[in-house]
Amino acid sequence: MDIKSLYLDELINEMKINNKQPAFRAKQIYQWIHGKLVASYDDMTNLPKDLRSMLKERYPLKVLEAVDSLVSEKDGTIKYLFRLSDNRVIESVLMKYHHGNSVCISSQVGCRMGCSFCASTIGGRERDLTASEMLDQIYRIQSMSGERVSNVVVMGTGEPLDNYDNLVRFIRILSDSEGLNISARNITVSTCGLPEEIRRLAQEELPITLALSLHAPNDDIRKKLMPIANKYELSEVMDAFAYYYEKTGRRLTFEYCLVEGINDEEEHARELSRLLRGYNCHVNLIPINPIKERSYVKSNSNKIQKFKNILEKYRINVTIRREMGSDINAACGQLRKSYIDQNS
Ligand code: SAH
Repeated sequence: MDIKSLYLDELINEMKINNKQPAFRAKQIYQWIHGKLVASYDDMTNLPKDLRSMLKERYPLKVLEAVDSLVSEKDGTIKYLFRLSDNRVIESVLMKYHHGNSVCISSQVGCRMGCSFCASTIGGRERDLTASEMLDQIYRIQSMSGERVSNVVVMGTGEPLDNYDNLVRFIRILSDSEGLNISARNITVSTCGLPEEIRRLAQEELPITLALSLHAPNDDIRKKLMPIANKYELSEVMDAFAYYYEKTGRRLTFEYCLVEGINDEEEHARELSRLLRGYNCHVNLIPINPIKERSYVKSNSNKIQKFKNILEKYRINVTIRREMGSDINAACGQLRKSYIDQNS
């Protein structure tokens, strides 16, 4: 049993039924794991010694091991490479902003969505991450850096809605007041657009921010970049997104990677503006980060600015995403990839 993936009430039950421990003991254990972020039962100093050894034996506390990191000299962004208990590796990133520290986590080992510009999908999906493996990326980064993490974005490797149950469990524990207590409002989940899961998520009563990787103003262009567009038409995804807004009242975010010659023309900006008319939303324009396996090229900054100006003319909230850690920013997923290439 993976003790770090249990909700507090599940842990209370487990301790009561299988170990005859009172609820307050379960609560202490939960607070040590999720509030004080300890990496070992030995550090749970208010628990009796024999209880600690029983826990060690029955519920091994799995902790991610940082095997590499890269620090940006420009802005202090740190990329971490973590080893999981089955020796697979994942990447997470710590970004420091004026308003606080933000961590970008992975939700799966690899990804099966196949977006043509993305490095994380090249080897396919190996497996889902458990809730505890998602949590521990944040726990270890906060412990190692000694600085509080205030925002979390699920925008690393993987499609979070393709790992739905673990994702929801992760969000509930992360925002729990007995744990790290990161407000759901400060958690963003980015998806390539799975309509059924978006609708399901809308009903969870979790005030997170949902971001849609749109990347195109129409189905034709979207299909060139994202295989998932062959399965779901844009209209279906947009309807699910509208439903999410209706249910949660949370402003929607659209991510749009600009790829030279594919989706960055003025006509695309106008088409995008028409598509988004009537949505309470924010558009994040992302200069694409070229990966060596593909020939895509980043749009030049003039073109990006022009694209932005057109959206603004149509009164759409839009920002160009700041490129953090550009000096260590071999595209997302490449630290992991080079580690695997060297070690296989
Ligand atoms: N599967 C989810 C979350 C992971 S990808 C999703 O599709 O949203 C997180 C974001 O990074 C997405 O918007 C994705 O399109 C973007 N991304 C992937 N590869 C990129 C690259 N090479 N350059 C810029 N953005 C990229």
